Amino acid sequence: MNKLSVNGERLWSTIMETAKFGGTDKGGVCRLTLSDADRQVRDWLVRECESAGCAVSIDEMGNIFARRSGKVNTLPPIAIGSHLDTQPSGGKFDGIAGVLSGLEVLRTLNEAGYTTIAPLELINWTNEEGSRFTPPMLASGVFAGVFERDFTYAIEDRDGKTFVAELERIGYRGERKCGDHKLGAYFELHIEQGPVLEAENRMIGVVTGMQGQRWYEVTVTGQEAHAGSTPMHLRHDAMVACARMVEAIHEIALNHAPLAVSTVGLVAVKPNSRNVIPGSVFFTVDLRHPDDNVLLQMDRELRERVDNIAKETDVQAKLVNNWNVASMEFNEECINHVRNAAEALGYRHRDLISGAGHDAVYIARVAPTGMIFIPCEHGISHNEMENTKPEYVAAGANVLLHAVTAYDEARNAATR
Ligand SMILES: [Zn+2]
Repeated sequence: MNKLSVNGERLWSTIMETAKFGGTDKGGVCRLTLSDADRQVRDWLVRECESAGCAVSIDEMGNIFARRSGKVNTLPPIAIGSHLDTQPSGGKFDGIAGVLSGLEVLRTLNEAGYTTIAPLELINWTNEEGSRFTPPMLASGVFAGVFERDFTYAIEDRDGKTFVAELERIGYRGERKCGDHKLGAYFELHIEQGPVLEAENRMIGVVTGMQGQRWYEVTVTGQEAHAGSTPMHLRHDAMVACARMVEAIHEIALNHAPLAVSTVGLVAVKPNSRNVIPGSVFFTVDLRHPDDNVLLQMDRELRERVDNIAKETDVQAKLVNNWNVASMEFNEECINHVRNAAEALGYRHRDLISGAGHDAVYIARVAPTGMIFIPCEHGISHNEMENTKPEYVAAGANVLLHAVTAYDEARNAATR
């Protein structure tokens, strides 16, 4: 193994520097995809990559690719990536730690005068979060052939603005066709977004795969009526039905403990007035489990419970399953390079299955892929309180550096 080591202080201060783009009073970040803050952080990244000697290109989905030449530039690049967009009340690290660790790897290699055999490519994927434009992992999905470009262009945010119009507005609708080039491999560092590493006092999670996910949208339709003059037994209260459904959805995950999780995270009540019986409620459902068969069982239970509660409460319920991702496993060779790097660097590590979706999950369909997790404080993420420690980020970036260089040596030494 080479003796390279990242500059942890520089990496931490770079993360803090980008936190000002969309920074909130509570110390978090609000940098919704294709917002002005997103444009600012993209402009910043492009400048930093160019001053690190990279050639930057933008594709038609706004994905940013910064390429650092290798010794054999006909080889497909080994890519490092993640995302710079955040949830509306997001933190400073989700996605960001991955992109900026990649930047730190490039800076470290530059300082050491180390040239990899294959070129390296740092990637910022557009709209990982899926908060403003649903579904998430949108542009890595187009890159991997999961979504059609034109399907994503037409997606509207809650104000009716389309993805493509906003992409153009911030000046990041690039020329390059999305998915036009092959990646030799893909590595992504991410905060764990769960409590396991911290609880076990480990620095590194070697991510072996991701659990399956299913997303739904439920619209419950009852009847608006006066809150004072409508007797209880004559009501069609969409909110009461929704409340019972939320409870039932919670129970579905408990019935498949300990690995199942279920969440109702968005609820919109109409007309949302204190003296009107709610006539309609829209809510979302997120079900996850590492075993796709159990997840399908949870799907059946969800449909049955929603139907039954609608009947009992005298309302109509329409359930739409709008997004699914099957559980998956990452590439064994990439996983081994991550594990070996953690081991060789003396970091306490363990294997983990990701509870969250990541761009790496889609990229794994088109390139050998591995992921590195670092602990985050109390496992809290998608929250302005999201936090980690400089030593964790530095450890993760070092594992990234060594996994990438070791993969390059193992794969490409013969072509030099
Ligand atoms: Zn993320």
